[in-house]
Amino acid sequence: MKISRDKIYLDYAATTPIDKEVKKTMEQSGFGNPGSLHSFGQEALATVDESREKIAKAIGADFREIIFTGSATEANNLALRGIIKNLKSQISNLKSLRIITSIIEHKSILETCRDLEKEGVEIIYLPVNKQGIVDLKKLEESLNERTILVSIIYANNEIGIIQPLFEISKIIDNFKKRNFQKNPNYYPLFHTDAVQAFQFLNCNVNNLGIDLMTLSAHKIYGPKGIGILYARAPYPKPYTLNPIITGGGHEFGLRSGTENVPAISGFAKAIELADKNREKEFKRIAELSAYFWKELKKIYPKAEINNSNDLKFMIYNLRKLPNILNIYFPNQNSQDLLMKLDLNGVAISAGSACSGRTAKTSHILKALGLPEKKIKSSLRFSFGKFTNKKEIDKSLRIIKMIFCHN
Ligand code: PLP
Repeated sequence: MKISRDKIYLDYAATTPIDKEVKKTMEQSGFGNPGSLHSFGQEALATVDESREKIAKAIGADFREIIFTGSATEANNLALRGIIKNLKSQISNLKSLRIITSIIEHKSILETCRDLEKEGVEIIYLPVNKQGIVDLKKLEESLNERTILVSIIYANNEIGIIQPLFEISKIIDNFKKRNFQKNPNYYPLFHTDAVQAFQFLNCNVNNLGIDLMTLSAHKIYGPKGIGILYARAPYPKPYTLNPIITGGGHEFGLRSGTENVPAISGFAKAIELADKNREKEFKRIAELSAYFWKELKKIYPKAEINNSNDLKFMIYNLRKLPNILNIYFPNQNSQDLLMKLDLNGVAISAGSACSGRTAKTSHILKALGLPEKKIKSSLRFSFGKFTNKKEIDKSLRIIKMIFCHN
């Protein structure tokens, strides 16, 4: 799918158009129900199996560790609620359980945590520094024997900050080693939401040291409405998760519902393409971002990137995704700017897509310590596969024109 030639789409962190190879793969998948025993069903089952195998291989996982869900939101819910449900069947007092997360998670984690709090689970929300990096000291202090899960987003959807997952996994491992004799089990488990990260960062689950990981197809040029939860299977023991959607027992009993075969095959293709193009795209987009920022500063010298003074340093040292720039425009109203840009054919975002209809102040920018005034003057530009220098130059001309008429 190509974006209209006259319009410029700079909102790839919200969603991406479906890649034409992905679309072709989806069209080739049969309509059969993978649960049916006849040839139509078996053909569909083979497509699901092959896709699962490809995805597992791409992230260093086993076939059985890939659970398809209806979205990344659902995968995040399954990770958090599934673990609690599993333990609920073993212990009576949920009040004794603790989950550690951060204040800059996506709403699908934060709102799930808030809901679990109502059931009595204790949630610790780790603060972040001005760049958006999670306070690791606080993490170390917060781990206790009641902690069953640490869930930290890999790369943030509004500011692109990358969390030091490997370091976090070491902190958790050390805690486990120290407490192993008293607490000989798998907890705390480590989950990450890698929805935004996958396009640009290596997401091999063994290198990251994680037990659970969430992915979404529509952020990597795949279809909407399909997500994955990678869940490390502690063989020979059963999963540490219980299903939150029950029914026919699909997805190894962890997520019932007839498999969305075309979307699953499209997801596998999107993952294959992202893997193939990752390094090249990282470099290309990093250069485009640096160029955009340099030229934007000439147009509006007072502009600031919300979580980084040194863009190139942050990107090339893997502290920040190359494609997301959250920019503060002093004395401007972000909603006004967004509308003017849209009227001139440039699509950007003033917050995360999910809160688009309700104009709430971004909890991510708040977490960085930005005052309301700054947040209301901030816009997110996010670049992707079809962004090129020509589009960037045209956007810059439009931005300049808007500021000249302001
Ligand atoms: N996690 C992150 C970091 C996201 O950016 C998004 C989408 O905005 C989600 C989760 C939810 O993904 P989905 O739309 O597949 O539910």
